[in-house]
Amino acid sequence: MTLIKSQTLQPMSRHRFKLEIIFLMTILFGLSAPAQGSTQKWTAQWEPTKPVNGSPVLFRVTAPLQLTELNGNFLGQEFSFRPNTACHCWYGFAGVSLATKPGTYTLRVEGKGAGEKDAAMSYTVAVGAAHYPTSALKVAPGFVEPPKETLARIEEDQAEKKKVFSTTAPETLWSGRFEPPAEAEVSGVFGSARVFNGVKKSQHTGLDFRVTTGTPIVAANSGTVILARPLYFEGNCVMIDHGQGLLTMYLHLSEFKVKEGDTVKKGQLLGLSGGTGRATAPHLHFAVRWRGEYLDPRTLLELHPPGS
Ligand SMILES: [Zn+2]
Repeated sequence: MTLIKSQTLQPMSRHRFKLEIIFLMTILFGLSAPAQGSTQKWTAQWEPTKPVNGSPVLFRVTAPLQLTELNGNFLGQEFSFRPNTACHCWYGFAGVSLATKPGTYTLRVEGKGAGEKDAAMSYTVAVGAAHYPTSALKVAPGFVEPPKETLARIEEDQAEKKKVFSTTAPETLWSGRFEPPAEAEVSGVFGSARVFNGVKKSQHTGLDFRVTTGTPIVAANSGTVILARPLYFEGNCVMIDHGQGLLTMYLHLSEFKVKEGDTVKKGQLLGLSGGTGRATAPHLHFAVRWRGEYLDPRTLLELHPPGS
C-alpha cells in the first residue's frame, strides 16, 4: 500500500517514526472475515493490511477457545503464535517472499485447547504487487566481476553463510517493536533493482542508512549474535538470530562491538558503521531474513506487536 511506496528517501528519526506510527495505527489494522463459516469469536488481523511481495507480516488472532498453543501456516511456512495478555490475542510473524505473485493466499491457524477439542480456522489474505524502483550504481570493477584470486574466499563466505543461515532458535527471542539500527536518513530502499556498472546484477535486499564511518549501530531487537566477522561482499558483518527463522543483518561495519555467541538486547551497540566490503561509500546496509527470504526492513520497523 501507499505506506511502503511513498516513503522512499525520508528521514528515519525515532521521533518522526513515532508520529507516523500514531497516524498509521488508525489505518493499519485490517479485519478479515473468516474464509469458512464458523463462530463469531475467531478473528484475524494483520499488518500491513495489504502485504506485498517482500513484506514481513504480523498476524494477530483471537480464538473462541482457551488455547494452550496456536500454530499458523502461510505460504507454505509453519510458524507459532505467542499469547499476549494486553491484546487478549495470539500473534505470530511470517513473511511474503519477493518471488510471491499477487493473489489471495490462505492463513491456516490451528490451536490446541486445554481439555477441549482442538480448533482450526482459515483466512484469506490478499497479497499485492510491490513497485520497487531501479537504481544504477558504480563500484570498483572487482566487485562486479570478482577477480579469480578472490573466488575461493567468496566460496568460503558462501559456505559460512549457509551454515549460519540455518542456525535459528526454536523459540522467539524478540519482543515489542523493532527499532531502527541507526538514527540516520535512508539512502537506499529494499527491492530496488541494482544495476552495477551498467549490468543488472540483483535486487537490493536491504535498507541502506546514510551514516559516516564510526556511527553507532545497534540491535533492532533482542537475539543471539550468530555471525560477527569480515566477509568479501558484506564487509564486517553482524547477524542476529531473533528465533523462529528471523534474522537481522548489519553490513559494512568498521568495527565490531560484539562477538559470535553473544546474547544482545534491543538497542545494544553491535559495532560502528563503515564502508568495508562492496560499498561505494560508508553506509549501513540493514537486512531482514526470514526462512531463507529477504524481507523489507522498513515494513518490519513499522509493525506494532501487541504490548509495544
Ligand atoms: Zn544496501
